[in-house]
Amino acid sequence: MIPSVMPTYNRAPLSFVSGEGSWLVEADGRRFLDLGAGIAVNALGHAHPDLVAALTEQAQKLWHVSNLYRIPQQQALADRLVEHTFADTVFFTNSGTEACELAVKMARKYWHDHGRPERTDIIAFEGAFHGRSSAGIAAAGGEKLTRGFAPLLPGFVHLPWGDTEALRAAITETTGAVIVEPVQGEGGIRPLPDAALREIRAICDEHGLLLILDEVQCGMGRTGRLFAHEWAGIAPDIMMVAKGIGGGFPLGAVLATEEAARGMTAGTHGSTYGGNPLGCAVGCAVFDRVADPAFLAEVGRKGGLLRQKLEALVAAHPDILDEVRGAGLMLGLKCKAANTDLVAAGYDEQILTVPAADNVVRLLPPLTISDEEISEAVARLDRAASRLEPS
Ligand SMILES: *Cc1c(COP(=O)(O)O)cnc(C)c1O
Repeated sequence: MIPSVMPTYNRAPLSFVSGEGSWLVEADGRRFLDLGAGIAVNALGHAHPDLVAALTEQAQKLWHVSNLYRIPQQQALADRLVEHTFADTVFFTNSGTEACELAVKMARKYWHDHGRPERTDIIAFEGAFHGRSSAGIAAAGGEKLTRGFAPLLPGFVHLPWGDTEALRAAITETTGAVIVEPVQGEGGIRPLPDAALREIRAICDEHGLLLILDEVQCGMGRTGRLFAHEWAGIAPDIMMVAKGIGGGFPLGAVLATEEAARGMTAGTHGSTYGGNPLGCAVGCAVFDRVADPAFLAEVGRKGGLLRQKLEALVAAHPDILDEVRGAGLMLGLKCKAANTDLVAAGYDEQILTVPAADNVVRLLPPLTISDEEISEAVARLDRAASRLEPS
């Protein structure tokens, strides 16, 4: 008989009743060091006092009113994002996949309104993940995401990851935009080299294409900059954000330049819940901590520390581990053993990590993780790797 919760997930036999900073606690009191952070969502860890205060304060006043009315919390968060990024304007969603929907719609509307309605194609890269909606799976294109869900939303072209020569060759009269993650998350923590991202930007400029960056996983401070594309010194036309922006409250956003958003006039798009007072009150509290340059510098420093310790771990377990990759506190352990075996061995050592494609184990700790917790995490991963070695 089908379970009452639809069985679309492969769940670990773990269940948590509370969280505190970098730790999750089971009902029996067992404490797990959380290096998954809800897949890069709990940017400030669990039960951060600022976020609890922002949420409860707002919860006592007003949860939801609808976008029929002005929402000051939404305005405040949009103003912060516009001030700190390339963007001129922001639309709020509840998730990353909804951000993908709007990014795709916005690109198509842009060309429609520019009298070039044939420019509907969006070029994407293999190994991408853009969410589970019809547009999201069609954009990513991977067999695991799309199998059985035909007919797929048309208008996506897929190229080898980061292949700028293939990109030049693929552009036609019907190309309208390029979509790419600066650091692939689900694809196995693969950072696009800065030079490749700059070249993609240059190619888009040459052909007048819109550049859509998916920073749902790598954005909001994860790499040590507010957004990962800043490392390459370029800016997109449209950017998808979610995960860390709400610190655990479901919140997403599409950021855009005035030019790219020109077609998005009243009545062209909407969301019942997107940008609700609760989510945006929490989002402002997250933003005020994460956008602080001192906080971002700490993410960079701690990322370097974790990376250094992981390099030593790889050297100590050459039969189990292959290499470390990623940026800031978005790191991946490419494995020689099965990545899912290492994740499972981690459960036995009370450390949580997340598998990704390309046989990678993802380490996405809360950005607030301490140096001591980093040492403890690596000690636990060391014991987990030892469990996989023949005794
Ligand atoms: C998680 C993710 C999404 C989808 O976000 P949801 O909130 O799960 O809909 C899209 N793009 C990237 C890069 C992601 O990591």
